Amino acid sequence: MPVRKACSVFAICLLAGPATSAAQSLPTDDAVVERIWAEGMENSRTRELAQVLMDSIGPRLAGSPGFDAAVDWLLATYAGWGVPARKEEYGTWTGWRQGVLHVDLVSPRVQTLEAELLAFSVGTEGPTEGPVVTVPADLTEDNAPAWLATIAGKFVLASPPEPMCRARQELEANARKSTVEALDSVRLVLQRDYAARLRELGGWRRAGQALEDAGAAGIVMSYWSGGWGVNKIFNAPTRGIPALDLSCEDYGMLFRMTEAGQSPRIRVEAESEDLGEVPQFNVIAELRGTELPEEYVVLGAHLDSWHAATGATDNGTGTITMLEAMRLLKEAYPNPRRTIIAGHWGAEEMGLIGSRAFVEDHPEVLEGLQVAFNQDNGTWRIERIEGQGFLGAGAHIARWMALVPSEISGHVTLEFPGAQNNGGSDHSSFVCAGAPAFRLQSSYDEYRQYTWHTNRDTYDKIVFDDLKENATLAAMLAYAASEDPERVPRDRAILPIDPNTGEPRPWMRCGTARRSP
Ligand SMILES: [Zn+2]
Repeated sequence: MPVRKACSVFAICLLAGPATSAAQSLPTDDAVVERIWAEGMENSRTRELAQVLMDSIGPRLAGSPGFDAAVDWLLATYAGWGVPARKEEYGTWTGWRQGVLHVDLVSPRVQTLEAELLAFSVGTEGPTEGPVVTVPADLTEDNAPAWLATIAGKFVLASPPEPMCRARQELEANARKSTVEALDSVRLVLQRDYAARLRELGGWRRAGQALEDAGAAGIVMSYWSGGWGVNKIFNAPTRGIPALDLSCEDYGMLFRMTEAGQSPRIRVEAESEDLGEVPQFNVIAELRGTELPEEYVVLGAHLDSWHAATGATDNGTGTITMLEAMRLLKEAYPNPRRTIIAGHWGAEEMGLIGSRAFVEDHPEVLEGLQVAFNQDNGTWRIERIEGQGFLGAGAHIARWMALVPSEISGHVTLEFPGAQNNGGSDHSSFVCAGAPAFRLQSSYDEYRQYTWHTNRDTYDKIVFDDLKENATLAAMLAYAASEDPERVPRDRAILPIDPNTGEPRPWMRCGTARRSP
């Protein structure tokens, strides 16, 4: 059930929600809350921290030198604050360094194109020029080998084009309804048509290998994110030839020129370096508990990012939230009752690897976990905490929220026992093991469209009023969770019915951490 609770900074707030088994209430006339608030809201370091992480260190792809630089910077930052921190090696990943990238249309005219090199792609050997081709519409199983024999040295367009690169919401606001509907059907036709063409090459996943085997100069794709100027950028589907992503606009232009017989040629200069298998780390900062050191409050956020931008909202903001929260705790609550850990997880984007490895490697933390809060969904203020199916945890979190000034808590809705988000982010590495872990959830739609895994996820998207508030909230929740006289219970709700089976959804199961590429 939704519980909304707000109270002023120092008032004692009683929970009006579900009955709680905990008779004792938390201390609330509260000097610690006051100090966290003063330091977090009036002396926030979030701007300077974010500027270094996003601008100077930049993208933090698992296996890249940028990730290593971020690890070193976190350790140095914590050391400067006197917060013990360590890096924990949990496995390896493919090491990859990206260099410069230039992609230009050189014929029939010259134009620099907006491009990204897909992650772990090989580069070119110096500037490489070649014609651009589409996969033919009349390709069949029989004539595919003959066509493949013609593509050596050519750049192959491997995605369907978009009929329109305007943000959908603005198209809907300005165009006729019939236009929007017509564009939707054109889009569907283009996607089905190109999927059918690729099917003759063994389907989307195998097409890259087929093109590579045939000696293509590279493959060019476009994964538009449905907004102005945004593409999502992930792994290369090729191993031996470069894989590029072009903007919606530039990709569509090349596609139209090719299909119109205008014979576009591009020149690609892409530098990258395979660094072999390199060690991968989580960074763990810790304020040791004084009374219950074997019980843990975990503040988590993944440190890695995709590489096309600087990972500002995925997950620079989560990283800064938890980093700054630890600074606030060190200032205001340096000797916590329970042990407070900040987990800066590695390789979340490769499949929640760092957090899974941490849970596997630290049964004592799992056993002694009071609660984990994770953040991984962009900037904007935290507005929701979902219960993930933990029946009795809501009463505790509601009492902790009652300590939080209404300026912050007034925006936050608690949904307990709530639905359970299987996967999604690192909270699930704990939830699957039955340990109470929750996402600090911000507004999602705009994030999903514009900054999540895109080439526009940069410092300038961060809303610092929200970020400093989020860090303050995280610190206050950690404090309250640490001081709670009782452990958070782990009893599980019966999850909502799965419409596919007619049965309650089963509790999520833990995957195994993938410790090598
Ligand atoms: Zn993320």
